[in-house]
Amino acid sequence: MLLAVLAPAFAGPARAAVVPGGVGAGGAVSVADVICVKQCIAVHKVRPGSTVRFRGSDLEEVSQVVFRGAGGPLKVTPMRRTERAATAVVPEGAVAGRPYVIDQAGHQSRPAPHKLFVLAPTTAPAPVVSSPATAYPIAGPHELWEGFGGTREHGGVDVGAACGTPLVAALPGKVEYNKYESRAGNYLVIDAEGVDADIIYMHMTAPSSLKVGTLVTAGTPVGTVGDTGNASGCHLHFEYWMGEAWLGGEAVDPLPYLKAWEAAG
Ligand SMILES: [Zn+2]
Repeated sequence: MLLAVLAPAFAGPARAAVVPGGVGAGGAVSVADVICVKQCIAVHKVRPGSTVRFRGSDLEEVSQVVFRGAGGPLKVTPMRRTERAATAVVPEGAVAGRPYVIDQAGHQSRPAPHKLFVLAPTTAPAPVVSSPATAYPIAGPHELWEGFGGTREHGGVDVGAACGTPLVAALPGKVEYNKYESRAGNYLVIDAEGVDADIIYMHMTAPSSLKVGTLVTAGTPVGTVGDTGNASGCHLHFEYWMGEAWLGGEAVDPLPYLKAWEAAG
């Protein structure tokens, strides 16, 4: 019914709003999934203000993404578009539904196969026992030592702190590795929940007590600052990977994240 209401609004200047089928036209936008990538509650659970990524094909042609709203469709201009992905922010007033996209020619994709659950911001005042969304990974005095990249292609950021200072999960997620390596020392990898990212803690005093597979929330203690492995002085070597650490992902500069978490904390 919503689509029927919507169609006239997008019919445009005397142009068919229906994707021509089987004419070999190609370039018809399609949506295979919509996942939350920022300010998420879960992969398919969001609030207004969350950033979602549409996955599909020919998405570089997207001119508008359309969410279901309580009073009718809510159209939004995507922030970024590539052939396989388009990102957009969930607008105020959006409700649970299956978003779709419209390309520059006015063609409309099918709705996403999975429902995107939108929690109203007003219905859920913060629960009494709530965990923060993020936390600075060092729970104690610390100072920035060395940044990302540089001549030695540093894969993370070094933050100095007294040995024994508690380390906490910066993001909610799941423990993916808990190991020792000669350079990294005792290290821990957390697969962040709701974002396609891994975070890594190196040089911990001792192996983390958290078993692989353990779920953590932001602020969960994961270990303590140490100088195990190849470390001159007590510090945390912290890495942020887009995608899977070491397995096809890419280490990016963690400093913007660290700053944001520190400001939020
Ligand atoms: Zn380092």
